[in-house]
Amino acid sequence: MKIGVLALQGAFREHKQKFQELGADAVVIKLQRDLEGIDAIAIPGGESTSIGKLLRQYDLIEPIRERVAQGMPVFGTCAGMIVMANRITGEDVTHLGIMDVEVRRNSFGRQRESFETDLDIPVIGEEPFPAVFIRAPHIEAVGPSVKVLSTYNDRIVAVQQDNLLALSFHPELTGDNRLHAYFLELVKQKSAVGR
Ligand code: GLN
Repeated sequence: MKIGVLALQGAFREHKQKFQELGADAVVIKLQRDLEGIDAIAIPGGESTSIGKLLRQYDLIEPIRERVAQGMPVFGTCAGMIVMANRITGEDVTHLGIMDVEVRRNSFGRQRESFETDLDIPVIGEEPFPAVFIRAPHIEAVGPSVKVLSTYNDRIVAVQQDNLLALSFHPELTGDNRLHAYFLELVKQKSAVGR
């Protein structure tokens, strides 16, 4: 399995390392040609406006959308989730626009710029997940085919739509590999079906 980690801006090294720890082949994506031969893509946290701008500048929007339309799994964390969303509250722009969710940026208030909390995410098991939130977005609304995986104080913070997985927080910054492993399972199932 070969996972591409979008490396235009943000915390891509940590994602790459997590996938490698789990035994997957992980490569960084900076140019169109880097997309050749990948089975899935991860979009890291960082600054969604910058990531979106660079995606346009490097002509990566359409090639990624095409692959997603053919069923390529995508894992977005924090800014990565914003990049995936079909709608961003109060803004006219969207970036990849591949997931049927509306997200609100920086939604946890100033005094809570960054914090860590234990989240219940039943799909990865009973043990709570140590979630790091940094100027995090939350999900305001989801379409009918989107499954809510976790909430924090009544706000949706983890969602899945078929083989698209998006989180408000940063699983790559903790020692817990379960969400990366969960994503790799989605990729495995997808490649098994495609064969
Ligand atoms: N606040 C950032 C944004 O709106 C996301 C922060 C993050 O990825 N840690 O893009």
